[in-house]
Amino acid sequence: MVVEKTVIDTVVIGAGQAGVAMSEHLTNLGISHLVLEKKRIAEAWRTGRWDSLVANGPAWHDRFPNMEFPGIGADSFVPKEQVADYFEAYAAKFTLPIRTGVEVKSVVRNEGRPGFTIETSEGIIEARHVVAATGPFQRPVIPAIAPQEESLHQIHSAAYYNPQQLPEGAVLVVGAGSSGVQIADELQRAGKEVYLSVGAHDRPPRAYRQRDFCWWLGVLGLWDATASQPGKEHVTIAVSGARGGHTVDFRALGHQGVKLVGLTKAFKDGKVTFQPDLAENIARGDENYLALLDAADAYIARNGLDLPEEPEARHFLENPDCVANPVLQLDIKEAGITTIIWATGYGLDYGWLKVAAFDENNKPKHQRGVSSEPGVYFLGLPWLSRRGSTFIWGVWHDAKYIADHIATQRKYSEYGQV
Ligand SMILES: Cc1cc2nc3c(=O)[nH]c(=O)nc-3n(C[C@H](O)[C@H](O)[C@H](O)COP(=O)(O)OP(=O)(O)OC[C@H]3O[C@@H](n4cnc5c(N)ncnc54)[C@H](O)[C@@H]3O)c2cc1C
Repeated sequence: MVVEKTVIDTVVIGAGQAGVAMSEHLTNLGISHLVLEKKRIAEAWRTGRWDSLVANGPAWHDRFPNMEFPGIGADSFVPKEQVADYFEAYAAKFTLPIRTGVEVKSVVRNEGRPGFTIETSEGIIEARHVVAATGPFQRPVIPAIAPQEESLHQIHSAAYYNPQQLPEGAVLVVGAGSSGVQIADELQRAGKEVYLSVGAHDRPPRAYRQRDFCWWLGVLGLWDATASQPGKEHVTIAVSGARGGHTVDFRALGHQGVKLVGLTKAFKDGKVTFQPDLAENIARGDENYLALLDAADAYIARNGLDLPEEPEARHFLENPDCVANPVLQLDIKEAGITTIIWATGYGLDYGWLKVAAFDENNKPKHQRGVSSEPGVYFLGLPWLSRRGSTFIWGVWHDAKYIADHIATQRKYSEYGQV
């Protein structure tokens, strides 16, 4: 039943950081709009992340330009609840028109007249422009190799909150991006026996020569890279702001007691097998780490910066036994594994967006967020315009570009009208 029909210029769907940024820019341009959020502002930061998570970047970097984190040191790593509080406070500060508790059920293009009809849990809205800001990480993905055994407790990293929620027994964490390594580390420190399955990864140093890697990626132009390097599309990045921030070092994790294994290959007859690629994956991560040190050194030399040398950053620990003699197969019961945590990333879900903005593989078709369906925009997607597009600071700039695009299109629409 239609309980309400509103006509407005732009509807933004989702009030995570992307929706909040979008709304700020639309407000600044005087474009009437509404942000519809099915839960709460920055819900993903409240309930879609584990309890102890802190931002991966320091407070001076992982924020929007127009507000600092209140009461938090610039170099600190902000706890996730405070990140969510920040976006709520931001929305309040700029009086952004966000309506929470409203779910968008469908968006369809109007027939024979401009704009879109948006069906929501609270009624129908019509808008000229629609911005899909429902996040880069919408649907937790567990790969098809996951075993069917009911005796195993299996969760995605999105459903992991703390060690206490897990049953007794050892844990296999599959995936060693920022989520997988941080969760494995936390579980091992809580006294759990932990296996960590390590695939291809980048692992920048937390800091080098007194600058955080976020700074280095900025000055070296790497946040602005417009596409991942060929062959690196599936390479995850392993960084951590936990315990004051530290470089992710797989050898150190191994010495600490985390049992490292290669990429998880298959589950069969109560056994799990791993690729014999652990040492190679770690070596490639080292290459990426060293490449950043080299680029940083060259930058310092070229610009004559007075930043102290740090030769010890190039010394690696001895390989722990689990790397030198990798386990290629485990009997799950014998190893005592009762839980598998799949830190294997996320997929997209635009089932509600019924417009011509997707390719034959159902991937959003767009250029810098401007989709192939005129009037429909995507925001917050990986590599939307650059490496930084999914991150707090990056999405703000993408949102500005899209708001400007909407403003320009409005000028065309207004031309010749009295
Ligand atoms: C573990 C983890 C740690 C991260 N740490 C950092 C970090 O330290 N620094 C950083 O910059 N980035 C970090 N990120 C990346 C990124 O900042 C977050 O994923 C962020 O939540 C993305 O913001 P978003 O607004 O694009 O999407 P989301 O935060 O996912 O927001 C989308 C919103 O859309 C709403 N929604 C979805 N469907 C509908 C619908 N049909 N109708 C209405 N509303 C809907 C959802 O409820 C949600 O609130 C991290 C990501 C993860 C997974």
